[in-house]
Amino acid sequence: MGIRIDPIKCTGCMACELVCSYHRDDAFAFLSACIVVYRAKEKKDYFGVIVKEEESLVIARPEGLEIKGIGAVDEEAEGEGDSSAKPMLLREACDLCEDVEDGPLCVSVCPHGAVYTE
Ligand code: SF4
Ligand code: SF4
Repeated sequence: MGIRIDPIKCTGCMACELVCSYHRDDAFAFLSACIVVYRAKEKKDYFGVIVKEEESLVIARPEGLEIKGIGAVDEEAEGEGDSSAKPMLLREACDLCEDVEDGPLCVSVCPHGAVYTE
C-alpha cells in the first residue's frame, strides 16, 4: 500500500506537505516532509505532488501519475546534470503515518480528496 494522488483534483494548497512535515519533525518544517508540492516556474498554474517512498518516487502531474524507481531517478538526474531531484531522494520515506491513530494524515487533511491509498 502507498500514497497516491489524483493530480486533477489537487489544487496545490500544500496542506499535505505541511501536515507531513509536522508528523516527521514535530514542527512545520517543510524540508522534513516526504510529500512535496512541485511548482514549475516556467508554466503558470502548473504544479504537481511528489511522494518519497522507500524504493520509488510517486510523481503526480496534471498529465497523470507516474511511479519511478529511486535508481532511475538518480541516474536521470546525473545524466541531465539536474540536481533538483536530489534533495527529494535524500528525504525520509513515507511511513504511511503508521504510528498515528487517524493516519495517513495527508489523506485526512486534503480538502479535495486528491490523496488516497492504494
Ligand atoms: S502518509 Fe504520513 S508520512 Fe506518508 S506522505 Fe502522508 S503524511 Fe507523510
Ligand atoms: S492537500 Fe490535496 S489539494 Fe492540497 S496540495 Fe496536497 S494533494 Fe493537493
